Amino acid sequence: MRTETKWIENVIKTEEYEKYMKEGKDFINDDEIWEKIEKNKSPDPARIRSIIQKSFDLDLLSPDDTAALLNVKDPQLWEEIFDAAGKIKRKVYDNRIVTFAPLYCSNFCVNNCLYCGFRKDNKDEKRLKLTLEDVRRETEILAGKIGHKRLIVVYGEHPVSDVRYMIDTIRTIYDVKVKTRNGIGEIRRVNVNAAPMSVEDLKALKDVGVGTYQVFQETYHHKTYSEVHPKGTLKANYQWRLYSMHRALEAGIDDVAIGALFGLYDWRFEVMGLLYHAMELEKQFGIGPHTVSFPRLEPAQNVMFDTQKYRVSDENFKKLVAVIRLSIPYTGMILTARENANVRREVLPLGVTQTDASTRIGIGAYSEIYGAEKMSDKTEQDLARQQFMIGDPRDLDDVIRELAQMGYITSFCTAGYRCGRTGTNIMTLLKSEKEGQFCKLNAILTFREWLDDFASDETKKIGEELIKKEMAEVKARVPKIYSEKTFKALENYHERIKNGERDLYF
Ligand code: SAM
Ligand code: SF4
Repeated sequence: MRTETKWIENVIKTEEYEKYMKEGKDFINDDEIWEKIEKNKSPDPARIRSIIQKSFDLDLLSPDDTAALLNVKDPQLWEEIFDAAGKIKRKVYDNRIVTFAPLYCSNFCVNNCLYCGFRKDNKDEKRLKLTLEDVRRETEILAGKIGHKRLIVVYGEHPVSDVRYMIDTIRTIYDVKVKTRNGIGEIRRVNVNAAPMSVEDLKALKDVGVGTYQVFQETYHHKTYSEVHPKGTLKANYQWRLYSMHRALEAGIDDVAIGALFGLYDWRFEVMGLLYHAMELEKQFGIGPHTVSFPRLEPAQNVMFDTQKYRVSDENFKKLVAVIRLSIPYTGMILTARENANVRREVLPLGVTQTDASTRIGIGAYSEIYGAEKMSDKTEQDLARQQFMIGDPRDLDDVIRELAQMGYITSFCTAGYRCGRTGTNIMTLLKSEKEGQFCKLNAILTFREWLDDFASDETKKIGEELIKKEMAEVKARVPKIYSEKTFKALENYHERIKNGERDLYF
């Protein structure tokens, strides 16, 4: 206990965020946000249509414009916003959806967030921390049996899962290579969702090769933030959390990911908070958020929070996703398996770029479920060792097949980060719509790998048709967008992958 207290005392480095504050104030001004929402009530339809047009320039919208979108009442105008959201996503990211899986490594936590099953006062939670051997086993399932290439590792905040443990787990994951049907399975990008850290710790994370660093502000509303994060806990410090992306960028981690937990406070306020956060990052570092997440609060064990007061309906959920897409047009947007399959089908076309599948968030759950001989328990969730209930436990194969039927290609591409297409580089490429050119080719190649290594017969059939269509599209863009040489290289890589080579990319 004493060592735990000592550890807690040394986590927060006030000087690392105070230097960004102006006269003791951070960049979220609650009153200003409400004033903008009030001031832009009953917006004129012509103004809304011109804001929609503006968002196709792929720059951040202004807070006034975003507030006006949030105030739209007319269902017809909402349809126009939904339609634009899909078009903007296609303009920047085409028909690709990137997939990943979360890997929960430890549920020990020193905090007491009222809404979370991991909070320290939840005595019914079974506390578990994966050993490195467990991490290896979980990764073998994810990379060797399911076919993921990207993981997001998740940790509670606790001395037993400090940065050294994170580094060890990430290294272990990168080291795993598993024989698959036709090649080798491996994780090529590990993203991290963990508590705010110091610049020094973040540098250590960068050195081990993390992809994106993700911290959700939970709520941008100061008062609500204090209410749901009890005083005396590390998480009670709003600014330490708010400036965690500043520290990550300082530490050289270029891809930073923000998010809000929708359901803690008014959803329109949170969308404004996300926009102000993006504006601040652009202002200070010239880089906006690599991704934005918009998890909705899910049922969890022994929560101490009224989940109904600010519950976000499915209808409002669609609206907030579309407004984020228009307001931060270049960003990646992550829809998680917290949402059930029906909601995912409806929300995905509104601008989503990434989604998880085959998701299990119980500590050690992948090897238990996917590693078992008997697959009958596959959908079972154990609330005593997971943070909340997930809504869509479908297998990656089912999700990919459905996406293909909807016209999306699932991309396992991780090339961008390994070729330095991160940070300002990727921002420029995204805004100029050039990133998509590499991504299209890499999506085809990584989809080929996955089809040959993991797809069921049914999915493979549908996937083959999709690959043909994608190849034909690339060919049709020669010489205007792709050179003849690039197309030939694509054909060559594609053949080599079919013959068992892996990890060929542009
Ligand atoms: N402990 C770290 C932290 O709080 O930043 C890292 C990860 S926490 C396990 C991941 C995220 O899960 C939190 O940031 C929060 O947004 C989300 N979360 C917590 N409780 C939730 C719930 N009941 N439903 C949905 N998401 C939840
Ligand atoms: Fe701990 Fe994170 Fe859960 Fe809060 S949200 S109790 S910090 S795991």
